[in-house]
Amino acid sequence: MPPMPSTTRRRLLAGGTATLALLGIRAPGTAAEAAEPDSSSQAPGFYRYRLGQFRITVVSDGMNRLAIPDGFVTNASRAEVNAALAAVFMEPDVFLGPYNPIVVDTGAHRALIDTGNGEAAFRVSRGATGQLLGNLAAAGITPTSIDTVILSHYHADHINGLLRADDSLAFPNAQIIAPGPEHRYWMNDEAMRRAATPRIQAVFRNARRVFRPEVLARLKTCEWGDEIIPGITALGTPGQTPGHTAHLVSSANQQVYVQADVTHAPYLFARNPHWHPFYDHDPIQAEATRHEVYEHLARDRLLVQGYHYPFPGLAHVEKTASGYREVPVIWMPGEHPVR
Ligand SMILES: [Zn+2]
Repeated sequence: MPPMPSTTRRRLLAGGTATLALLGIRAPGTAAEAAEPDSSSQAPGFYRYRLGQFRITVVSDGMNRLAIPDGFVTNASRAEVNAALAAVFMEPDVFLGPYNPIVVDTGAHRALIDTGNGEAAFRVSRGATGQLLGNLAAAGITPTSIDTVILSHYHADHINGLLRADDSLAFPNAQIIAPGPEHRYWMNDEAMRRAATPRIQAVFRNARRVFRPEVLARLKTCEWGDEIIPGITALGTPGQTPGHTAHLVSSANQQVYVQADVTHAPYLFARNPHWHPFYDHDPIQAEATRHEVYEHLARDRLLVQGYHYPFPGLAHVEKTASGYREVPVIWMPGEHPVR
């Protein structure tokens, strides 16, 4: 910090506690100590639950609040999208996008699935997104303790958190496991040349920015059906991107289906699985994947962890006349036995 001009210093000294309060600084021993914190933020965004022998911690990367652009759903009108928002008592023309990476502690490994928008996004969004590192710290999880980072697909909100704001590795001790079909597509120069739209070209450029040599040196690809580490299996769920991958986490007869972006916000896209959001790479394939996965989730009453579900993103789904409906799991204050 540069030296403070003497006039400023004089004003600060003269202004006393009122000036300090304006600067967000509390004078010790004053009534300000007893006042409520002057902040609009929530408690830290992490949520723990047990799955068999595993401990899972959902760690929020924050949430985006966006004006819905024209063509947001290519085969549904703005009026239809707004009707779906109204049905869940939400504001019209506004899209809320939460981000829910998870940490899976298996006993043998500590794996992070997806990495959020990255530390650099925290500044750009003025703290709305890029919260992962702060919330990990609040949960008592150090980035150096993560030994495995598992990626679902290469959209920016899932991979940018591999890097700190200064482009150093956010998880320096982790092996990075990426889906082979996803990695091969976005690293293919011919596919990049053929990219049809500026948006897809931007996804290519961002993937190549993130997958710098230090990242590639730690990266291993997996194939669909592989058990990446004991208890976490990669499942092919293509459509949103060519190599989009979900993960089944299993321990002691309990399972959670970590769906990544099979659907985005469930109150729009699980309830209307035939809708094509503009960012689906192959909308027909994405729709088929959504139907297949959600049939399976509903039929087998599987627990689902949704990256863009409302925090903490844990729910079951049931079949309805026109699609599926998510039923959030009740928030638990801790792991207490049934009495
Ligand atoms: Zn996403």
